[in-house]
Amino acid sequence: MAPHSTSGFPELDALQLLLRRDSPWLRAEAVTQVDVQGESLPVWCLEMGSTDPNVPAVGFFGGVHGMERIGTQVLVAWLETLLARLEWDGHFADLMQQVRLVFMPMVNPGGLLLSTRANPAGIDLMRSAPVDAKGSVPLLVGGHRISRHLPWYRGNVEDGIPPEADALFRVVRERLHTHAFSMAMDCHSGFGFRDRIWFPYARSNEPAPHLPEAFALRALFNRTYPNHSFYLMEPQSVSYTTHGDLWDFLYDEHIAEKRGLFLPFTLEMGSWLWVKKNPRQFFSWFGHFNPILPHRLERVLRRHITLFDFLIEAAVAHAKWRPEGKLQEIYREEAMRRWYR
Ligand SMILES: [Zn+2]
Repeated sequence: MAPHSTSGFPELDALQLLLRRDSPWLRAEAVTQVDVQGESLPVWCLEMGSTDPNVPAVGFFGGVHGMERIGTQVLVAWLETLLARLEWDGHFADLMQQVRLVFMPMVNPGGLLLSTRANPAGIDLMRSAPVDAKGSVPLLVGGHRISRHLPWYRGNVEDGIPPEADALFRVVRERLHTHAFSMAMDCHSGFGFRDRIWFPYARSNEPAPHLPEAFALRALFNRTYPNHSFYLMEPQSVSYTTHGDLWDFLYDEHIAEKRGLFLPFTLEMGSWLWVKKNPRQFFSWFGHFNPILPHRLERVLRRHITLFDFLIEAAVAHAKWRPEGKLQEIYREEAMRRWYR
C-alpha cells in the first residue's frame, strides 16, 4: 500500500521511495519535467525486463487524470509487489528475459499535486491527442476547445501536444511500438458501477481492425479467471465517443506503420460503486474518483493484480491465443454481434 505522508503528495513520495530501493531489476528515467507552483516535477518512466525487440512489451500507465489518484496508487503498489517478488521468485525473474515491462504510473504529476483532472495548463490529456472524433460527441465531455476553465478542454491546436502527452507518446513509440507485439493498460477511475476495460475506438463507432484479437484476449481471460466477472470489456465507443483520445492516436499511428501488433486498453475503475456503498463520499469531489474507506482502498489496490499478471503472461504467450485465419473471422463476427449490432 502507498505509504501516507504529510507532504500532500504521497504518491510521488511512494514512487521516489521505490526508486531509492535501487533494485537491480528496475531502470528509471525522468522522461520530462513539469513546472507547477514553482516546483519542477518529474514524469517517471520505469522499466524492467528485456529490451530485445523480439520479445513482447507491456506498458502500464496511470495518473493521466490528476483527480484519479487511485490509478497511480494501484500501479505503485503493484510495482512494490513485483520488486519484492523479483527478490525471491525465480520463475518470475526468468520471465523478465521474455518480456519488457514499461511503467508510467504518474503521467500528470501536476494534476495530482493540484488535484485536478487536467494538467496544470488546464488541458485534459485524454482529449489532447491530434485526433478528431468522427460524428458528434457528447457536449463538453467529448472534448472541446472553448476554454481551459471548463473540464475536458482539448487545448488550442497551435499550442501543440502538452508535455505530459508528448512524453507518453515518446515512451510508447520508443519502448512499446519497437516490439513485434505490445499492449498497454492505462488506469483510470470514475465511470460507472462496473470496472470497465476499454479498447479503441473512442473516436467513433467504427470497429477497430484488431477486434478479433481483443475479443480473443477477453475470452482467454474469462476462461482462465471465471470468477473475475466484475470486468466489463468493450470498445470505449459503446459508452461514449470523444475527441483527442491518446490511445486512439497511438493505435492508428502504429497501424499506419505496419509493424507488428499493438493493443491498447484503458482500465476504468467504476468509482460509482464506492460512492454508493459510502454515500458520504458523494459530498467529496475527491470521493467521486477514489475509494476513501481504508478497507476499500486496500481491496482496490489488490483487485487488479490478477489482470495485470495475466496481461504479462498473455503477452509472452501471444502466439498461443491470437486468432489466425478462419478463427479470426469467427471472433470478428462474435465481436460485431456483441458490440456493433
Ligand atoms: Zn480518467
